[in-house]
Amino acid sequence: MSLVTTPTRALVVCDTCSGNRVTSITMTLTDGSAVDFTSCHSCETRSWKQNGRELDISTVLGKAQKHKL
Ligand SMILES: [Zn+2]
Repeated sequence: MSLVTTPTRALVVCDTCSGNRVTSITMTLTDGSAVDFTSCHSCETRSWKQNGRELDISTVLGKAQKHKL
């Protein structure tokens, strides 16, 4: 899949362990929707959110998929 990534420097705290060793980036998927990808280095939790709502990984991959005509 092809993703455009934009690093953000917002202070993010992990939902799972409340740690701050978190990487958060915003990605624009191939369907044009922007999602926030958060990865925690302490507990290795990874989450995807769109407009503050958590997304299932399969939803993200579905959005990133190119639909063949
Ligand atoms: Zn964590």
